Amino acid sequence: MSDSSKSVQKSFEKSVKFGEKEPTEEVFTDDEPAKKRSKNSANSKNKRRAAEEKLRAEEQRAKEEEEELKKLKEVMKESAEAAQAFNRPVTQFNEYSNLASELLNSLPQTVGADILLKDVHPQDKAEALADKLLTTEDVEPRELILEITGRVSMAAEVQRSPGGGNGIFMYDGLMRGTAGEDIMGGKQEFICIETTNVARRSCTPNCVLKHVLGSQATLGIFILATKSIARGQEVTLPFDADWIQSDVPLKCVDHSTPQTCPWEEERMRVAATKARRQPRFT
Ligand SMILES: [Zn+2]
Repeated sequence: MSDSSKSVQKSFEKSVKFGEKEPTEEVFTDDEPAKKRSKNSANSKNKRRAAEEKLRAEEQRAKEEEEELKKLKEVMKESAEAAQAFNRPVTQFNEYSNLASELLNSLPQTVGADILLKDVHPQDKAEALADKLLTTEDVEPRELILEITGRVSMAAEVQRSPGGGNGIFMYDGLMRGTAGEDIMGGKQEFICIETTNVARRSCTPNCVLKHVLGSQATLGIFILATKSIARGQEVTLPFDADWIQSDVPLKCVDHSTPQTCPWEEERMRVAATKARRQPRFT
């Protein structure tokens, strides 16, 4: 072998050796710095992922906190509105005679009445049609139909016929001269309300009157259902407490003729007795 061919041979062997050492994946795994590099890259990938997750979690938490804050603000707004409604003075729908005012001012307030006196009107469940009061929706027993408003005075101050009529209601839940007192000559005297919320009377009514007394001696007299009343049906109230003293026939919605109404029958009987007795006292 010549020198030159020896050199070629060496060079060939070198190249084969070099070829053996050609970088491959396997080779890299045995290569410590490369391993380190790969590990470092995995670490930084993990770190990046962790940082991203942390960021996402923080964003989520911020979002939740924002939601909480929003809810809290809504609650605060609602309670502020409620407080405002509570502090608003009661609207005065009635007029009072001096005697009625005096009586109302002497009586204890109904706890919580102001809320009822403020918000009741938009919720009226009946409307007046000619001389009748008709429901505008189905009403269940114990439901409040509407507040009757008008001029409030003592019974002695108004011209009325016993039993009631002409939009004047004598209310027997409030009175002067109760037992032990000597007001108005010791005689019990009921309050009266003259109103345009007209409900006719019946001996079998589907409603009653009930009252509350709010701040500033504000009286609220409400029509309350005692029976189920379908929409469009007539709201009826009992005759006033002094119905038996009436000199005129009772006008009962549920009994069109005096002979069919037991109350009118009773009134006629008492009136006849009174008429028979009268000559002896004159
Ligand atoms: Zn009747």
